[in-house]
Amino acid sequence: MLEVKNINVYYGAIHAVKDVSFQVNEGEIVTLIGANGAGKTTTLQTISGLLHTRTGSIEFLGQPIQGVPAAKLVGRGLAQVPEGRRVFQQMTVEENLEMGAFTQPNSTVDPNLARVYEQFPRLKERRKQVAGTLSGGEQQMLAMGRALMSNPKLLMLDEPSMGLAPILVEQIFDIIQRLHKAGTTILLVEQNAQMALSVADRGYVLETGRVTLSGPGKQLLADEAVKKAYLGG
Ligand code: ATP
Repeated sequence: MLEVKNINVYYGAIHAVKDVSFQVNEGEIVTLIGANGAGKTTTLQTISGLLHTRTGSIEFLGQPIQGVPAAKLVGRGLAQVPEGRRVFQQMTVEENLEMGAFTQPNSTVDPNLARVYEQFPRLKERRKQVAGTLSGGEQQMLAMGRALMSNPKLLMLDEPSMGLAPILVEQIFDIIQRLHKAGTTILLVEQNAQMALSVADRGYVLETGRVTLSGPGKQLLADEAVKKAYLGG
């Protein structure tokens, strides 16, 4: 579904992503893990069209997508939930969700809204509440719900567990697994390697801009180098 080949991304003279290659097959949860500054967010922003590669290629559903504007990519089925959630603070929950459907025909908005409310009953309860007054976990759910309003084939999540209490982290990962079971393919960027590798089919470890290890999630969880660097063991 997504094929990233040898991409190099720079911020001016800073070489943030170095020859990174990975793929996401239909139906998988794939995770990119790594420490602060490893290049995870840069990689996601590049896929979603917000940053540009200097070299390398990115294909989504068999088509090259470099240079395609971000909004067009959403229309083609690629949705990103940004780091730090970034919901529209002054708008209500429902207005935020409606914004997520901007690439979709009007007739799909109500059925999608019903589906998102079914997946996130908490959002339904709070649909008239201003998003800026939601808790951190609720804002994460809203950011995920908003992305789902575009009917994505591939959902890319940037550190959904960031800043959440352990109980909420569990809830968010439960939701990720439910979305996956319902048929959404997921690319998950996480610093919480333990949680991410336990739900992922496959994972890639990024270190200072390079992929240094990859394999099935369970295998990486058991890997001594991964344990030492990312699992506190
Ligand atoms: P984190 O988990 O902290 O978000 P990350 O793995 O997502 O980290 P990136 O945000 O992709 O890492 O950053 C990769 C590298 O690029 C870092 O060295 C960072 O300082 C640098 N970088 C990121 N954004 C910019 C920018 N706008 N200008 C210059 N350098 C940047």
